[in-house]
Amino acid sequence: MKKRKFFLPAAALLLLAAAASLLLLNRWQLRLELRGEEEYTLEWGSEFRDPGAQAVFGGRLFFPDFAEPEVTVRGEVDPFVTGDYILTYSADYLGFHAEKPRLVRIADTLPPVITLTEDPWRFTLPGTAYAEEGYSALDNADGDLTDQVVRRETDGVVYYSVSDRSGNTARVERVIRYNDPVPPVLTLLGETRLSLPYGTAYEEPGYRAWDNLDGNLNDRVTVTGEVDPTCPGDYTLYYAVEDSWHNGICAWRTVTVEPKPEPRGYVYLTFDDGPGKHTQRLLDILDRYGVKVTFFVVNYGYTDLIGKEAAAGHSIGVHSASHDYRKIYASEEAYFADLDKMNGIIYDQTGFYSDIIRFPGGSSNTISRFNPGIMTRLAKAVEDRGYAYFDWNVSGGDAGTTTDPDEVYRYVIEGIQAHENSVVLLHDSKSYTVDTVERILIWCLENNYALLPLDHDSPTAHHRIGN
Ligand code: ZN
Repeated sequence: MKKRKFFLPAAALLLLAAAASLLLLNRWQLRLELRGEEEYTLEWGSEFRDPGAQAVFGGRLFFPDFAEPEVTVRGEVDPFVTGDYILTYSADYLGFHAEKPRLVRIADTLPPVITLTEDPWRFTLPGTAYAEEGYSALDNADGDLTDQVVRRETDGVVYYSVSDRSGNTARVERVIRYNDPVPPVLTLLGETRLSLPYGTAYEEPGYRAWDNLDGNLNDRVTVTGEVDPTCPGDYTLYYAVEDSWHNGICAWRTVTVEPKPEPRGYVYLTFDDGPGKHTQRLLDILDRYGVKVTFFVVNYGYTDLIGKEAAAGHSIGVHSASHDYRKIYASEEAYFADLDKMNGIIYDQTGFYSDIIRFPGGSSNTISRFNPGIMTRLAKAVEDRGYAYFDWNVSGGDAGTTTDPDEVYRYVIEGIQAHENSVVLLHDSKSYTVDTVERILIWCLENNYALLPLDHDSPTAHHRIGN
């Protein structure tokens, strides 16, 4: 019993000693593990969510997870202050101590933001400095950096830049919108409403175009519209000009072409004793001026020209077939026989009979006195038969008075000025007369005399009958 009593405690002691030895040999340790990463980099202002750490106390041989002691953390992270923060995690257990650091870096990696103010209505006049429309710069970490913005203007572009304290740089640029909103000034010289006498060519009084940038733009002015001085009425001329920036301006001028003035008189040029060898030349001259006259024709050849005269719009009157005074004024029958013969020739050439005549020598001739009263009777007889007979109140003097073209011209011009209706006696059988006709036409046209051919109802310029 005693022995046993002794033995049992001894065995228990041995067992205890062995157990103690084993516990001592178990190599206890306190382990500490960080959850998450050992280092974090966070953007300025972001919240740091600490993943924490775990501490475990245990032996290496057995009881590996004997206890989970509490972990304490030292250190703080301010997300609004950039920098490196160390968080230290530590645990203590049964005299064991463990700790581990974690690096948390608060960094500002975002650049500031530059905001440009733009006025859509604002333009910069080319060649002038750009006037800043405004800008602002804001940084997430540093706040308002507008004061630190650096501006640089080159070749129509403004460059803005600014850096925050962390060295993040923002750069923006603005393309300057150049424009010239100012149109040129267009000034018309002369009146903007003007009157133009009928038939007078319009002469542009001119204009001036000036632009704030382009200077003189006269060469770029376009004028549209035309003035027809032979057509009375109002005409509008438009003037327009654009500068290099397409700013346009226009102006206009009203030109009134005055009505055609009443002629100072009417001139009926009459040519007796043709056609002849100078007649074609006369027709060509008349044609150039568009003037119509009257031919009192005879039968001396060239009768085909009668048709040409009529075709050109001239009047054809009967003068005489023979122009033989003794024959034609021998009797009324003789006169009408001669007249009918000539009118037959006219009909053959033109297709119509003429109803206008001129007596050879005129109604006032005295060469017919060998047959007293014949002119008085004939004057009535021709009218009874429906003819109108024509004398003249202006003579070129080309049938005996002169052979000088200058004198013929002078007689005619002086005569015309003395009458409202001038029936002018000329002879296309005379070369010096044809020589002077063009000058007479020009004078009449320039002095506003109307040149007309005779018809049955035209002024007759009758002479006083002397037989
Ligand atoms: Zn004659």
